[in-house]
Amino acid sequence: MEKIKMNQPIVEMDGDEMTRILWEMIKEHLLHPFLELNTEYYDLGLAHRDETDDKVTEASALATKKHRVAVKCATITPNAARVEEYGLKEMWRSPNGTIRAMLDGTVFRAPIVVKGIEPCVKNWKQPITIARHAYGDVYKGVEMKIPAAGKAELVYTAKDGSQMREVIHEFAGEGILQGMHNCRKSIESFARSCFTYALDTRQDLWFSTKDTISKKYDHTFKDIFQEIFDAEYKERFEKEKITYFYTLIDDAVARVMKSEGGYIWACKNYDGDVMSDMISSAFGSLAMMTSVLVSPDGCYEYEAAHGTVQRHYYKHLAGEQTSTNSVATIFAWTGALRKRGELDGNKRLMEFAKKLEEATLSTIEKGKMTKDLALITSLEDVTVLDSEGFIREVKRTLEGLL
Ligand code: NAD
Repeated sequence: MEKIKMNQPIVEMDGDEMTRILWEMIKEHLLHPFLELNTEYYDLGLAHRDETDDKVTEASALATKKHRVAVKCATITPNAARVEEYGLKEMWRSPNGTIRAMLDGTVFRAPIVVKGIEPCVKNWKQPITIARHAYGDVYKGVEMKIPAAGKAELVYTAKDGSQMREVIHEFAGEGILQGMHNCRKSIESFARSCFTYALDTRQDLWFSTKDTISKKYDHTFKDIFQEIFDAEYKERFEKEKITYFYTLIDDAVARVMKSEGGYIWACKNYDGDVMSDMISSAFGSLAMMTSVLVSPDGCYEYEAAHGTVQRHYYKHLAGEQTSTNSVATIFAWTGALRKRGELDGNKRLMEFAKKLEEATLSTIEKGKMTKDLALITSLEDVTVLDSEGFIREVKRTLEGLL
């Protein structure tokens, strides 16, 4: 078979530890034999981030703005232990945080659904994708411990010195206080990323807040979404026969539990933080979650939702066999390849991405999987493969499909 060509590059962000090992294996066995892989490579491995004073992360984000499609390997977010382990100059920021801020993007997390790994909620048949607004609210909150009786107020001072005030509470004794904010621009970007991604994946979009209680704060989120939807997206949604649906967070939770899945659920920062962990554990495994960062102007960065699987990496370094699940990383690649194909009108590339996903899922459905899935599968005849063994098996299935 003639290798598939790619006219435009994908931005490739390499990463750390066990996922870096999987990254190489995926390229060697599942991509290079079939594609003339065209990538612009950025090494976001921690050592290279340190060498470049983290400039490489910024460069990779700028490249994503230019080429519009990126695929990222999991990376270490340094903490004190990592500073010591890698002898770092500084405790560099999370690459995901840097890239997200530069693209002004929203992260969509979706489970990979496969026969044999059933969600605990038995009526969930299709993936539920969570979109989390990743700015502000309690994550940028300012807090105070109130030591004794007194009055707490919200005060806003405009540039001209004029003020607005609101009494929060007249404390009779000790208490606690929190101030939080959000910005119109950030909420607008969040809304546009959500509408863009819903159109892109042809799924309904749900959005929920607690606007009945929070009549200004949460209500503003609701209003901004509705204004942008009506002005910019309504017609396209009608054309694609998908809907935008707003409801209260408590109603949304109740409906989600009873639903079949197959939609995007947009959440405010805290709700999204909590709900995305609930969804990933209910669908089976963190190793089966994909994640895509979508900017409001339509740039896409695909990755696995899990981290670098540090424990397996140390085993690997000690020469022991590992059985690390590469499915979400494979799907990060297929997501990026499909999107590249879509943007460039490259049908063969899109078809390849689809076949590689089918091959991955059908390998699992045949009972061949890594250890983490073998522990939770409902299939009876199961063969546990090591990290490379699974990828080789996917290659065999893929060759059959192609
Ligand atoms: P992790 O996701 O690597 O591992 C969490 C747990 O899930 C572990 O018990 C691991 O065994 C299991 N697991 C995760 N993915 C798996 C897979 N593919 N196959 C089999 N088991 C899997 O998270 P962690 O251990 O908290 O963090 C390790 C490193 O990853 C940290 O340095 C952290 O900064 C980084 N991290 C990066 C990202 C990212 O780049 N998107 C996300 C989360 C964590």
